[in-house]
Amino acid sequence: MRLADILKGEAVELSAQDQEIRYFLAYARVSTDDQERAGLSIPAQLREMQQHAQAKGIVLVGSYQEAESAFSDESRRPEFWRMVERAKSDPQITGILVHDHSRFYRDPYAGPQVKGELLAHGVRVYSATEPEYDPHTIAGLAIEKMTEFKNASYSIDVAFHTRKGMRENVARRDSEIGYCYKNGGAPLWGFAAYKVQRGTDRRGAPIMKTLWRKDETSVAGRQVWEWTRHVLVELRLKQKVSLDQVRDFLNDHGVPSPRKHYWATSSWRALLEPPALLQYAGYGVWNVHAKRGRHRPASEWKIVENAHPAIITLEQAEAIMAANDRQSRLGRDKSKGRMATVRTQGSRHLLTGGLLVCTRCGANLVGYRNQNRLYYVCGAKVYRKGLGCGPALQIRKEEMEAAVVEEIGLLFTSWTDTKRLMGMVNEQARALGQQQASESVEIARELVKVEEELGNIRQAIKGGLDDVEWANSELARLKARREQLLARQATVGEEPEVPRFDLTQVEECRRRFAEVFAQGTNEEKRAFARLFVQKIEVDPGTGEVLMHLFSRPPVPVSRGGHKKTPASAETGVRIGMVAGAGFEPATSGL
Ligand SMILES: [Zn+2]
Repeated sequence: MRLADILKGEAVELSAQDQEIRYFLAYARVSTDDQERAGLSIPAQLREMQQHAQAKGIVLVGSYQEAESAFSDESRRPEFWRMVERAKSDPQITGILVHDHSRFYRDPYAGPQVKGELLAHGVRVYSATEPEYDPHTIAGLAIEKMTEFKNASYSIDVAFHTRKGMRENVARRDSEIGYCYKNGGAPLWGFAAYKVQRGTDRRGAPIMKTLWRKDETSVAGRQVWEWTRHVLVELRLKQKVSLDQVRDFLNDHGVPSPRKHYWATSSWRALLEPPALLQYAGYGVWNVHAKRGRHRPASEWKIVENAHPAIITLEQAEAIMAANDRQSRLGRDKSKGRMATVRTQGSRHLLTGGLLVCTRCGANLVGYRNQNRLYYVCGAKVYRKGLGCGPALQIRKEEMEAAVVEEIGLLFTSWTDTKRLMGMVNEQARALGQQQASESVEIARELVKVEEELGNIRQAIKGGLDDVEWANSELARLKARREQLLARQATVGEEPEVPRFDLTQVEECRRRFAEVFAQGTNEEKRAFARLFVQKIEVDPGTGEVLMHLFSRPPVPVSRGGHKKTPASAETGVRIGMVAGAGFEPATSGL
């Protein structure tokens, strides 16, 4: 190629588009309950994408696929996010191919954001079945936004009709069995779901309907629904036992909870709430739950009587409601004193909130008080009487924390550069000083204003003001304000002295890390510990403690909502803490 050819416009263009191989990722997804589009199975989507890629000279270097409910939160798609991360980090990849744009993202707000981020990394989203466009042109942008609008409105429409269908479904009574249909979802404890076929649809596929019956599975010598009634009527209503006692009763009798193996108090709180009690009394209740586990107002619930066999009567359910009220009032009164102590003591433990983990059962260790001493102990011991774990090990709080502080101190010393630390300390001191200085400027300014106002009033009196009462009260108010300001000025000091720290002092502080650390507030200490400690594993069997520390300081990531991530993490530093003075087997008092 010659420059002259270029200037004359006669250069033979080696069409970049034809020569360059493009590397894309493929993404396919199906909605598990989107029947309108049921024909588009994942293999069918992938096939069409393959054909498209071949025709366009695209190499698909990876394919990601997902099946999800049209009603679940769209952002919860692990494969999707894996793909997005790969597309952003692999410079070879310039595109993501989807069967049609609605496969990529339906949400009209979150979708464009992801697309924009990809675009910033040089990655575009292409559809195998829709016209191609360049989002950097006006026409292309219009097509993109129209497509987003079309997809969003389609999914709003589907959601609307599906909900309408569900609302009708729960009110429909089966002509043979006489009870009403259910919309899916796990049945309440004590009930079992079963399906019946009721005709076929247009394509000849059987139409299945879900109903509930009493759960007659035999567990520990009784049918499940009988356990349910026993707890509701005998324990809660007649014996008025607490939720903790209900939990222990079922765990002790080997009656498993529906999802996990053991019962927790919180499950029983939910089973005694109005929607559950109505269902126990035979009412179908739908449309209770809103997003994020909230309840909709009761006026929006769809309630159908005699929708399934009842386990208790409505009168019993009503009486249980009254018992709940009494119990919670009682609980509130009893816990008033206790709550105050829990609140002040709860924060005394530095290593709660998932830092300490039991290796035997995986539960977090929690703060625990036994005979006026503070310990850490496996959460299973405290919340479930040890169920799912085993004999507990009490670890004395001070011993554990002292060991952690020592390790943090060592790590801190190895991380810090004294000179930089000195710079940071002095910067902090200067900022504090400035804050003080600006406060004293503020006070001075206000004092001048007060003096001015005092002057104005005196002037007004001289000028013949007749409302003497007002003038007097105003003078008194301003004088009081002046006293206040003068007092504050005295404490702030007009010229705050900003201390400066030299290398020796900073070095000294660094060496006496434990003492400095001890002066922090509990909140500061907890935050500090989290910068250094990744996880501490405790084996209650052997008393062995394995501390996982970050080998480098975490890099603060300020992007919204992200946790601080460590630059790197060591796999674990075994610290010599086995069965020392701080370790005691659990006493019977536990
Ligand atoms: Zn445990």
